[in-house]
Amino acid sequence: MDILISGASVAGPALAYWLRRHGFNPTIVERAPQLRDGGHAVDFRGDVHLSILRKMDGVLPAIERAQTGMGATWTVNAAGKKIARMPADLFAGDIEIQRGDLSRILVDASDTEYIFGDSITGMTEDADGVTVTFERTPPRRFHLVIGADGLHSTVRALTFGPESRFAKYLGLYVAIFRMENYLGLDHLGLSHTAPGRLAAYYSARNNTEARAMFFFGSEPLTYDRRDVEHQKRLLREAMSGVGWEVPRMLREMERAPEFYFDSVSQVHVDRWSHGRITLLGDAAWCASPLSGVGSGLALVGAYVLAGELAAARGDHRVAFPRYEQLMRPYAARAQKSGEGIAGMMVPEGRFMTWMMRQSQRLMPYTPGMSLIAKSARKTAEAITLPEYPVGSAPRPRPSGRAS
Ligand SMILES: Cc1cc2nc3c(=O)[nH]c(=O)nc-3n(C[C@H](O)[C@H](O)[C@H](O)COP(=O)(O)OP(=O)(O)OC[C@H]3O[C@@H](n4cnc5c(N)ncnc54)[C@H](O)[C@@H]3O)c2cc1C
Repeated sequence: MDILISGASVAGPALAYWLRRHGFNPTIVERAPQLRDGGHAVDFRGDVHLSILRKMDGVLPAIERAQTGMGATWTVNAAGKKIARMPADLFAGDIEIQRGDLSRILVDASDTEYIFGDSITGMTEDADGVTVTFERTPPRRFHLVIGADGLHSTVRALTFGPESRFAKYLGLYVAIFRMENYLGLDHLGLSHTAPGRLAAYYSARNNTEARAMFFFGSEPLTYDRRDVEHQKRLLREAMSGVGWEVPRMLREMERAPEFYFDSVSQVHVDRWSHGRITLLGDAAWCASPLSGVGSGLALVGAYVLAGELAAARGDHRVAFPRYEQLMRPYAARAQKSGEGIAGMMVPEGRFMTWMMRQSQRLMPYTPGMSLIAKSARKTAEAITLPEYPVGSAPRPRPSGRAS
């Protein structure tokens, strides 16, 4: 069976890996002209995530080789004085890796056809398959189409309607970019909070570079997602007056090789599937960057979706509802935790900011820190994974055409 996946980040290549293992024939279309490098750090935590990674040939050792090995993150005041230490497992889980490095490892393992620099423009379904049109590639037929194309999913928009119906804005914006590790941090993070704003600096790729990350509270902003200069201007305005390293970091932004800016939002869709089309990863259930389990959810969803398709011998009418039944409570729990964190992340006003600093100071002496880490682990482990024997699905057709 020929299966088209839109999106080559985490969910897409992980799904392609499992589909190949079960004997399906996946193709991935990715809008970016090449694999998107760098980005932010993502992590896996708990037995559920690790048990899937262990089943994937060579993937866990490759992740271990590329892991960030991050240590603690310190909160600092405007003068850079360290206030409170937050241990690595609060953010880094059991194993942490740059999202770009993870994508590369999954793509290498997936043994799949990739079409870069293209996007689906239309899908017409009939009894036997889906005719898909693209911006560049000539139309092609597939048996199934999977939208693993993130928060701003095209497959979701074409199938279920505009993003505004499904996106829930959590009141914050996030920006992240790569810069020189000019503070010379050694596997260390620093973060500084001002009313309504947070700036963080952490070393990356064995201290050879660093990431600047910013969160700020705002009413919804209107901007073009392709207009990076406008996004940088919005960030500069939002962070103006914040001390510490922020002015220098914003100067570094001007020569940053990559820049990410987006709202902190969730995706809530009543049903993930329609006919031969279904959604996976952030496209289906984005829990927001604050949940800390987005990449783990994408990995688990890919494993379950491919496994259910194999168990149903490719019958999407059986597999898609079963996949949704297994994944929905798990995703909903992660969404709830993401939402809770958004409210606490960047307190408004001087008093609340002061309160947060005091509680961070006290945290190492209270159960708070370990409770937060335990709760993230519980969220990551809140699913019982079925076993899906590999090799139970129909073998790929040599013709490459749906029939
Ligand atoms: C700042 C930040 C910090 C985060 N921190 C963590 C963390 O600590 N731990 C964690 O587990 N998760 C974290 N996450 C979340 C994690 O990155 C996502 O949940 C995860 O990447 C979801 O993977 P995905 O493949 O579903 O979607 P995405 O990673 O969003 O990938 C979607 C892919 O689809 C492509 N695409 C988009 N539109 C089209 C189109 N029309 N056609 C073809 N391709 C298209 C995109 O280019 C992209 O490659 C963080 C996210 C952000 C933004």
